[in-house]
Amino acid sequence: MRPFYERQPLRFDCTRCGRCCVAGGGYYVFLDENEAEEIRAYLNLSRSWFRRRYLIRLQDGDLVTSWQGDGRCVFLDAGGECGIYPVRPVQCRTYPFWPEIVSRQTDWQRESRRCEGINRGEEVPVTRIRKLVSAGRARQG
Ligand code: SF4
Ligand code: SF4
Repeated sequence: MRPFYERQPLRFDCTRCGRCCVAGGGYYVFLDENEAEEIRAYLNLSRSWFRRRYLIRLQDGDLVTSWQGDGRCVFLDAGGECGIYPVRPVQCRTYPFWPEIVSRQTDWQRESRRCEGINRGEEVPVTRIRKLVSAGRARQG
């Protein structure tokens, strides 16, 4: 069967609530070495300080962004804005159009409990959704 996003138009309008920038329940913001280097250069920090302050290497070897005491991503500023927006990881760029969210209606609806932008606003062109899903798949490898 064709994936849900191919069968039905999806609406999305980000309200910038910032909930997708909060860790918890095993949620991490994964990034690869190229993305890490791009962010480091954008912030103009030394490699060692950047690694210590902003990144965490999980036990299985995956690299993720660190988080603040309340679970917010380390890059989310006090005003709820992403401090590295132009160079944010693919995971953030493609949310909520991840294959595991948009392939089935139940997953899309479940995610709407976390992301209030889902099912709001205009329909997103399916060509754009396909591109985002592909980018997410390429990133997951
Ligand atoms: S990198 Fe930016 S967009 Fe991604 S979770 Fe952190 S604050 Fe949010
Ligand atoms: S949870 Fe959804 S609406 Fe809120 S900032 Fe993230 S993408 Fe936007």
